[in-house]
Amino acid sequence: MKYNVVHRGDDISKQLMQTFHRLVQQHGLIHDEEAPDIVLSIGGDGTLLHAFHQYKEQLETIAFVGIHTGRLGFFADWKPDEVELLADMMGESAVVNDLRVVKYPLVEIQITTAQGIETQLALNEFTLKGVDATLMAQLHINDELLETFRGDGICISTPMGSTAYNKSLGGAIVHPSLDAIQIAEIASINNRVFRTLGSPIILPKHHHCDIYPRANQNILLSLDHVYVQRNDILSIRSMVAAGKKVKFARFRQFPFWNRVREAFIGYEPINENRP
Ligand code: NAP
Ligand code: MN
Repeated sequence: MKYNVVHRGDDISKQLMQTFHRLVQQHGLIHDEEAPDIVLSIGGDGTLLHAFHQYKEQLETIAFVGIHTGRLGFFADWKPDEVELLADMMGESAVVNDLRVVKYPLVEIQITTAQGIETQLALNEFTLKGVDATLMAQLHINDELLETFRGDGICISTPMGSTAYNKSLGGAIVHPSLDAIQIAEIASINNRVFRTLGSPIILPKHHHCDIYPRANQNILLSLDHVYVQRNDILSIRSMVAAGKKVKFARFRQFPFWNRVREAFIGYEPINENRP
């Protein structure tokens, strides 16, 4: 089994990486940056986003796993003092050649410009905002006009991303076993002229959403942690990525709802009010 490590760059993460190299190489794992089977991210959720984009052309063959250093990670769910345990478990799966993985949906966007169509993937979300004025855009679902949006922007997230930006926007947390994307508004203006739904909506796979920004707007587009400014966008289609998922190596059980509790409520479940 081949592996690579992507880290945040701080001293603690670098030290952990050294320890990890030593431990897994004792188990016979091979360090390979080009074509790893496992990519370990050491840092935060942001570090895992970097790792994902670095390897997004190889999603079929790569499984991700994360150790968080510093803050509590949502994707990065192993603690630094568990590095030895993680290395042992990886060593065992390498021996029996049985890497358990979970697969989670991604959002695909197709950006149409006068030049053609570009396709991009996001693990958390993509957002669209105005740069020098509010965003004005028509939002179509399955080729029918839903609303004319005006406001700060629009966020379209995956279930894994539903706990990130989407959550700050009042979106729902969506279990990643659902093949769905969520559309959440970022500060929409509502009056007689511009009227939006107001609530986040969730689309199943095979549905698509097209956003047509008003012509010649300067637009800030984000894909996870990457921001780019554009003024050539005619429309953006988003949907659950067809046939492309991200894989996470599952060396132990850590149910999504436990992850949600630990990240947002705290470590200790309080049972005082339970009858
Ligand atoms: P950042 O500004 O350092 O990260 C924002 C926070 O979101 C960090 O605490 C990060 O955790 C956490 N996070 C990332 N993905 C998450 C997930 N799936 N579930 C729960 N928390 C998550 O920027 P970054 O580290 O490069 O991450 C980019 C992400 O930031 C974007 O994809 C977007 O979701 C999020 N963001 C949120 C807001 C907002 O909530 N108002 C605004 C812009 C962007 P770590 O500290 O472990 O990295
Ligand atoms: Mn971060």
